Amino acid sequence: MPAPGPGVCLVCCGPAARGPALCFACRSVARQLGVPLAPVVPVRVCPLPSPLYAVLMGYKESPVGEARHRYASMVRALLDAFLAVHTPCVAAAAGGPIRLAVPVPSTARPGGSPLAGVRGLAEDVGRRMDGARWSPCALRRGDAPVGHMWPDARAFTVTPEARPEVAGGRCLLLDDTYVSGARAQSAAAVLRRAGAMAVVIVALGRVLRPDRVPAHAAYLQRATLQPADVGTDEGHGSARRPCARCVQTGAPIAPIA
Ligand SMILES: [Zn+2]
Ligand SMILES: [Zn+2]
Repeated sequence: MPAPGPGVCLVCCGPAARGPALCFACRSVARQLGVPLAPVVPVRVCPLPSPLYAVLMGYKESPVGEARHRYASMVRALLDAFLAVHTPCVAAAAGGPIRLAVPVPSTARPGGSPLAGVRGLAEDVGRRMDGARWSPCALRRGDAPVGHMWPDARAFTVTPEARPEVAGGRCLLLDDTYVSGARAQSAAAVLRRAGAMAVVIVALGRVLRPDRVPAHAAYLQRATLQPADVGTDEGHGSARRPCARCVQTGAPIAPIA
C-alpha cells in the first residue's frame, strides 16, 4: 500500500489528486457526516476483479459452504499476518493502544458482521493486539439506510452493553472491503459519538476499479503492487513490507513473534 502523501488520500490511502489531499469519496463522506473522518489502514489494495476480491466476497457470499470456509481461513490469515507486524502502526494512528476491535455490521444482510463468523479472529486480535477485545456485538444496525457514497451516522448504534467499553477507549473498526468508506466511516462516527477516544479503520482490501476509473488504474501503476497472495504462505519477508501508515507515523515494525 502506498503511504498517504502526494497522490494518495490522507484518510483512506486511495487515489487522490496531486499534493496532500483527500480523495473525492472522503471529501463527500466527510461533508455528509459533518465530522472528521477516521484514518484508514488498508491491508491490501484490492483491484476489482482480483483473486483477493474473490476471497473478500467469497467468505460471506459463496453458495458453497466448503468454499466459504476456505476463504474465511484466508481472511483470518491475512488479518493475522498484518496484525503481527503492523499493530504498532494501528496504535500510532489511534494515539495509543487499542482496547476494542469491532467489525462493521453488514448493511446488505440481516445479522451482524460477516467477520464475526470467521473463527479464530477473536483469539488473533487478543494475541496480536496486547489483549484488545474482539467485540462483534458492539455495533448493530440502526434505522437509516447507508450505501455507496451515502453515509449516515444513524445507520448504526452502539449496543448498551458495549457503551462502557467504547467510552474513553480506542477502537479498531474492521471491515473486509473499503470502497467509498460510507459504511465504515458512518460506524466510526457512531463510535466517536459514544465517547470513543479514537477510531482507526482497518480494511482488508481498499477496492479500486482500474477498469472503470482511469485515476485508479494510474494509482495501481504507481503503487508498488503487492501480489494478492492471500491463501499462500506469505513468508515473513512479504509480511514485513511497510503498510500505508508505517511510513507516515514512523511506527516501529514489530519483530515477528
Ligand atoms: Zn480517501
Ligand atoms: Zn505498518
